[in-house]
Amino acid sequence: MRKKLIAGNWKMNLDWNEAMTLFAELIQYEKSNDTHADIAVFPPSLYLRHFYELAQDRKSSISVGAQDCSAQVKGAYTGELAASMIHSVGAKYCLVGHSERREYHRESNDILSEKVERLLEADIIPVFCCGESLADRDSDNQTFVIDNQLDGTIFELSTEQFEKIVIAYEPVWAIGTGKTAHPEQAQDMHAFIRGLVHSKYGESVASNTRILYGGSMKPKNAKELLSQPDVDGGLIGGASLKRDDFSAIIKACSRS
Ligand code: PEP
Repeated sequence: MRKKLIAGNWKMNLDWNEAMTLFAELIQYEKSNDTHADIAVFPPSLYLRHFYELAQDRKSSISVGAQDCSAQVKGAYTGELAASMIHSVGAKYCLVGHSERREYHRESNDILSEKVERLLEADIIPVFCCGESLADRDSDNQTFVIDNQLDGTIFELSTEQFEKIVIAYEPVWAIGTGKTAHPEQAQDMHAFIRGLVHSKYGESVASNTRILYGGSMKPKNAKELLSQPDVDGGLIGGASLKRDDFSAIIKACSRS
């Protein structure tokens, strides 16, 4: 049985005081409600250690994750953060291949594969993002694009490695645009991805792999998206910056 994962990607938002306030409020929410999902917050990496310690002190089950890591192990790479460093400050997860990294930093399949390797070596769960652009969707190329994004990266992993991966399907045209995939569109793509995992790694791995949906998930559409059989949670940008919206999305995860 796949437990849902609700993950908040804060991107480059919130200063220290704002971030501390929001994280403390989320802990408060999680402690005082019967939640049925795993919850993770991906703040700017500068805040990770503090968030981790706060969650530990308050006996909260909220995990923290980084938004990116270096493809290198260590050394003279100014400004980069190694996966081992991210692990050492308490992160459980790290995003890889978010569409903003692919677009603004030209991250290729080769770079993403290296990052996934570094994360697995460091015992961090990669949340591997994939998704088609609007042009790809308009020309009905979405399955081809996703196939290519997975084939050249996480489908190179051994079964043992792959079992640690979380996939996030994020149609680029839905990220931060207020346009959401219809629940049936999301379900179709998630079922397609699970089918690819099945062909590559077999039934048991496919049925255990968590596939999150990301792209303008909000309180008003969360329930329908999250009740699709192959949608195992959400990667949430904008709505994760508001306590009430993020907690409403967590609440939309029914017991399953
Ligand atoms: C994201 O950036 O991963 C995302 C899904 O953003 P938003 O929820 O704002 O569309």
